[in-house]
Amino acid sequence: MKEIKYQDIVTHVSSMCEEANFELGEDVLNAFQSAVDKEKSPMGKEVLNQLIENANVASSERVPMCQDTGVSVFLVELGQDCHIVGGSLQEAINEGVRMGYEEGYLRYSIVDDPINRKNTGDNTPSIIHIELVQGDSLTIHMTAKGGGAENMSRLQMLKPSDGLDGIKKFIFETIQIAGPNACPPLVVGVGIGGNFEMCAYLAKKSLFRPVGERNPWDEAAKLEKELMEEVNQLGIGPQGMGGTTTAIDVKVELGASHIAALPVAVNLNCHASRHKKVIL
Ligand code: SF4
Repeated sequence: MKEIKYQDIVTHVSSMCEEANFELGEDVLNAFQSAVDKEKSPMGKEVLNQLIENANVASSERVPMCQDTGVSVFLVELGQDCHIVGGSLQEAINEGVRMGYEEGYLRYSIVDDPINRKNTGDNTPSIIHIELVQGDSLTIHMTAKGGGAENMSRLQMLKPSDGLDGIKKFIFETIQIAGPNACPPLVVGVGIGGNFEMCAYLAKKSLFRPVGERNPWDEAAKLEKELMEEVNQLGIGPQGMGGTTTAIDVKVELGASHIAALPVAVNLNCHASRHKKVIL
């Protein structure tokens, strides 16, 4: 049984929170660069270049790339032969978020309850999903998820007879309703199957996969490519100014579902597609 210290998790999570907000990943930057080359609209090209410049300034001056520093969402793969010592995993993650957001001077974006809406003052609690896996490693994926794109995300319980056409219609409709409000170019996370809560989780989980990396399941990868082409024909473009780069990637995760059900969730991510990963 491998032992992992509470304090090591705190330190790593704290760094991840700062790095996620200061350093846009290579995957996203590469996608912006290749979009500049392909974008048909001059205004769209201009916006993409501004996003690249914004990311470079954030990285060199160690400032957040966006004022919305997001909800800290974690996907944790906990090896069943791994033991956390000195405190609980959840508390270590929240302590790391507290430290990272304070030391990085990152905006606190969480309110304690959704009715009274008092800011918790430290960006906690974070949202933590834990999957138990084989082995003795602890893998922590973190994203700082912006509110604008999250607000425009949607879920629908389709009927199996709606089929692939119904799925695509719902996805395109969601992106069109979002328009500029989700801060495109987007990373579109799609969960298909499972049940009500599982399809939302699948959509979120897909966003932790690096931009440009296809789902290893052929059926899902084929759909990702098709959707990517079709989404970019919607004409919304970078920051909603029009153009051929509405999305820099579309991610699909599929799950088994009830014979009578076809749940679909679309979780939109904005151009500040911030995700980090650490393996302990
Ligand atoms: S949705 Fe993304 S880009 Fe838009 S304000 Fe929020 S974090 Fe920033």
